[in-house]
Amino acid sequence: MRLTALIVMAAASTASAAPDYAGHIKALRDKLAAKGLTGVTIRIEEPFVVIGDAGEDTLARDARTVRWAADKLEADFFAKRPTKILDIYLFHDAESYERGVQLLTTDAPDTPYGFYSPSAQGLFMNISTGGGTLVHEIVHPYVEADFPDAPPWLNEGLGSLFEQSAEQDGHIVGLTNWRLPGLQHAIVHGEVPTFSSLMHLGSNDFYGDDQGINYAESRYLLYYLQQTGKLRGFYKAFRAAHAKDPSGFQTLTKTVGDLEKLQPAWERWVKTLRFQ
Ligand SMILES: [Zn+2]
Repeated sequence: MRLTALIVMAAASTASAAPDYAGHIKALRDKLAAKGLTGVTIRIEEPFVVIGDAGEDTLARDARTVRWAADKLEADFFAKRPTKILDIYLFHDAESYERGVQLLTTDAPDTPYGFYSPSAQGLFMNISTGGGTLVHEIVHPYVEADFPDAPPWLNEGLGSLFEQSAEQDGHIVGLTNWRLPGLQHAIVHGEVPTFSSLMHLGSNDFYGDDQGINYAESRYLLYYLQQTGKLRGFYKAFRAAHAKDPSGFQTLTKTVGDLEKLQPAWERWVKTLRFQ
């Protein structure tokens, strides 16, 4: 009796939680028409709806990046999907991107590449700049759902790790990228924060004047974990321990040993990396 009741409840909650893509797209079409954004094509790439302004074929091609990133990130990191259907707008050039963002968020974009807006429930991309920012921004709503209150270093570290990524043995892997030379320069000049201080930064400080080095250090710390086969295990252990270890410092120490000892070795290793 009790078991039956539980099963019925589980079925009911699953049914009520199933996202209504058809209803969402109908409302989306109405909204876009009202704002004068016509001539767009729309595809479902769960848990996202992807909107393009350069025709069906271009959207089909660009949406492959969305599908690939979502599938690979879910397989290796994220047990939970974003709870709301999010729209991913792929604008085909700078002009259409700026116009679209202005119409949809009533604000001009503050980056030429693309961004995720939780309040607008969407990702807005100038896809002519490449797919890197798209993958970076896809990471953020997943982290929001799967690891609420993740510290900025982890959120941006993962986002920027996968902004330059490839598939190896069926897994998504980050590659070295444009953030490397700045980090190497900062290492040479002794300007890199300790791992402990990086990990304890709140949003205001992480996104402050030194955000460039904070992103780069976070990225290459996670890149180090990836290259030593520890990244997926660390992410899951940190997520599980988060209430007791909000910065991840204790979990990372358990994963790699004394962080004060690791840092100089990591800095020497980063100096050997190359980005072409
Ligand atoms: Zn980001």
